[in-house]
Amino acid sequence: MNAGIASGKTLEQIPVSAMKGVGASLAAKLAKIGLFSLQDVLLHLPLRYLDRTRVTPIGALQPNLNAVIEAEVRVCDVVFGKRRSLVCKVQDGTGTIALRFYHFNNAQKQRLTAGTRLRIFGETRRGASGLEMYHPEYEYLDEAAPLPLDQSLTPIYPATEGLTQPRLRSLALQALTWLDKHALGELLPEPVRRKLNQIPLADALRYLHQPPATANVQLLMDGEHPYQQRLAFEELLAHHLSLLLLRRETQADGATGLRMSPTLKKCFLDQLGFGLTRAQERVVCEIVADIAKPVPMLRLVQGDVGSGKTVVAALAALAAVSSGKQAAIMAPTEILAEQHRINVGKWLEPLGIKLGWLTGKLKVAERRIQLAAIASGEAEVIVGTHALFQEQVAFADLGLIVIDEQHRFGVHQRLSLSEKGTIGIENQPSSKLRPHQLIMTATPIPRTLAMSAYADLDCSVIDELPPGRTPVTTVVISDQRREEVIERVRLACEQGRQAYWVCTLIEESEALEAQAAEATASSLAESLPHLRIGLIHGRLKPVEKEQVMAAFKAGQVDLLVATTVIEVGVDVPNSSLMIIENPERLGLAQLHQLRGRVGRGSTASHCVLLYGSPLSQNSRERLRVMRESSDGFYIAEQDLLLRGPGEVLGTRQTGEMQFRIADLQRDSHLLPEVKEAALLLMSEYPLLCEQLVARWLGQNHRYLQV
Ligand code: ADP
Ligand code: MG
Repeated sequence: MNAGIASGKTLEQIPVSAMKGVGASLAAKLAKIGLFSLQDVLLHLPLRYLDRTRVTPIGALQPNLNAVIEAEVRVCDVVFGKRRSLVCKVQDGTGTIALRFYHFNNAQKQRLTAGTRLRIFGETRRGASGLEMYHPEYEYLDEAAPLPLDQSLTPIYPATEGLTQPRLRSLALQALTWLDKHALGELLPEPVRRKLNQIPLADALRYLHQPPATANVQLLMDGEHPYQQRLAFEELLAHHLSLLLLRRETQADGATGLRMSPTLKKCFLDQLGFGLTRAQERVVCEIVADIAKPVPMLRLVQGDVGSGKTVVAALAALAAVSSGKQAAIMAPTEILAEQHRINVGKWLEPLGIKLGWLTGKLKVAERRIQLAAIASGEAEVIVGTHALFQEQVAFADLGLIVIDEQHRFGVHQRLSLSEKGTIGIENQPSSKLRPHQLIMTATPIPRTLAMSAYADLDCSVIDELPPGRTPVTTVVISDQRREEVIERVRLACEQGRQAYWVCTLIEESEALEAQAAEATASSLAESLPHLRIGLIHGRLKPVEKEQVMAAFKAGQVDLLVATTVIEVGVDVPNSSLMIIENPERLGLAQLHQLRGRVGRGSTASHCVLLYGSPLSQNSRERLRVMRESSDGFYIAEQDLLLRGPGEVLGTRQTGEMQFRIADLQRDSHLLPEVKEAALLLMSEYPLLCEQLVARWLGQNHRYLQV
């Protein structure tokens, strides 16, 4: 215990297990969210805050505010509207507000008699009877023994299964006490700090974990408080530096120029079965020109879901093989890797090209065979998951790495993965040459942002969909009309179509999500006894997932109930209907990805966004964008415009943005300064660059070793 003090370690060197009450099992949970050291705990910042420090008069309430009120019950009744609810009107002398409960029991109703005094905590909304609070927390007030109010704002942390808010709070407080005894290195040089109001890092951390009651809650909620901006700046700087460092490091080494064989290319295109779109052709040309140079390529290909990135990847791989080199294609999940293996194999094997295959789930014997083929060069194009880049994997002569990322992780992170990738590649026996790297992403980055955030990356955009796609018609329906939607599924399936039913959860917890999907599947099975219903979620074994997917692809399953795991990669052209439950919980980019799973065949496809009512104004707007557009770039731009502070939470929870505190969109105004500071650090403070990257991105590197 407290070994760190004795040895004078810095906070990044002290493991979480040095804290009181942190044993192996808690440490493992913390590791799951990337918290390994005390520094990590301190940098695990609240997503938002609750203000329970003061009581607000009802007369002063505004819609969409979290507030504490103290009031007296005037009347409490069960109301039969669209949905039965318990409505309790309370007043405090300055006004009246209704508390609405959709889930309630009789005992609860009985206790809320007229005259009862309550302290209520909840979020205000504009409801049927003026201002309302839905399902607020409340306590009974006793004049004789008043309950104390909180002294500081209550932080809400990003959490995971088995890690409660009180636990996270107490860990943060404990970590703050270490901050008093151990330095947390200040990594911003003086000229940069001057621009940031000189706020020391430690002060910012203390403040943000425990903001005083006098703090400006609105600024904090919006992420625009100077202390948050101080940290966001540092984080953005670290990410930017990681790009610059990566770029510099990459370009310091040489690469083998790859030349596409025109004969092979022609064979490839002749047996493809479709012609490339102009956008695909253009991007292939950009890549081919780039990899012909003796400098390692580092190129990002952005292409909306369904734009046909796989074939572009296969052509790039063909160029590598043409030049006698190997190419590796890495997918983020087993399912997607499997699909790439099938497609890429279908295209390349007829040309006599040998495919290799490597995932973490291979049986020992099979794995040995594959590793040998990769090491001997017999396998020319190797498809797999990130198992491809583990230390034991030695490539004979790797010329190109393609990383297909869909939108699971931020671009920066994926870049750091490719960095890890190249480390793996250094197992190459002879040459110091680096492979070229192609990163494919379906995350549409709003053009305005791409300009400033990724200016240092080469970028190709596939901005056209293959012809013959019928656009997906999207409807937005309240879950009060669930029965109608179920009926619609029945009709579609009876006509031989296939459908997806996607379950979402607020918590990013695989276990809970799996449970929810299981429950939905069994209730749908009851409503739709004649349909063959499949179930897929992250908790299934890979073999099981493959079986379910194979059955769905083969048309042996009519309705596939799924969690968001299907968003990556599944391509089943016969499926033309997708129901997404509680779409309001997902980011627009993720919804767009999900929806991209239908509309791949020639039949008109439909997507039903089955929202839980009531819907906030902002969610309503966002779903409207989904209904009106199928253009990923437009959707991303709109998301940028519409993203309210609450939505930041939404995207963080769906893992879309992997920043700890920065938000590329919200903080885009910082980017010019960030770039300037990055250049200064690169030229004058090289040591600090490495340290900053380690501080803010260290967790990602560790993640990659999983
Ligand atoms: P994504 O960009 O989302 O990864 P895919 O590579 O999975 O898209 O392609 C989606 C589907 O479109 C696949 O079935 C693929 O074979 C097909 N496809 C790709 N390019 C074309 C094209 N130019 N014309 C017709 N179909 C195409
Ligand atoms: Mg793809």
